Amino acid sequence: MKKVAISACLLGRACRYDGRENRDNALLEKLEGKELIPFCPEDFCYGTPRPTMDLVETQQGIKALSNLTGADLAAPIVAYAEAFFDTHPDIDLFIGKDRSPSCGVCSARLYDREKQLLSEGATGLMADVAKGKNIACWDAEKY
Ligand code: SF4
Repeated sequence: MKKVAISACLLGRACRYDGRENRDNALLEKLEGKELIPFCPEDFCYGTPRPTMDLVETQQGIKALSNLTGADLAAPIVAYAEAFFDTHPDIDLFIGKDRSPSCGVCSARLYDREKQLLSEGATGLMADVAKGKNIACWDAEKY
């Protein structure tokens, strides 16, 4: 059976920053018969509800800056992602919530230090780890 890592909010888990969910029934129909393994790095690392963060390009690389404190929140999320894929080495497919700075595959927003939008096709932090492991990755809305 195919194993699919999927953003937990797409399954209806209320783990979004604002305590809501993103259940996608059409997507779940397409995935019927596959083993779904949910993840939510932001809930695990920062709880729900939580302040939002944005991906920001800096001279030191891409950071995930809190819109509340300005702190870089990336490292725990990347560590969560690494641990997740270590625990599940046989994932066949990664489906991330589009536009999320953690889960978006080719749809995350990337800003510069002045908060000017640089791209709407960036890769979120956890999706980037999945790509690095050569897992097939899809934004939910494109699957
Ligand atoms: S998009 Fe990712 S980080 Fe955001 S709530 Fe969904 S699973 Fe969690």
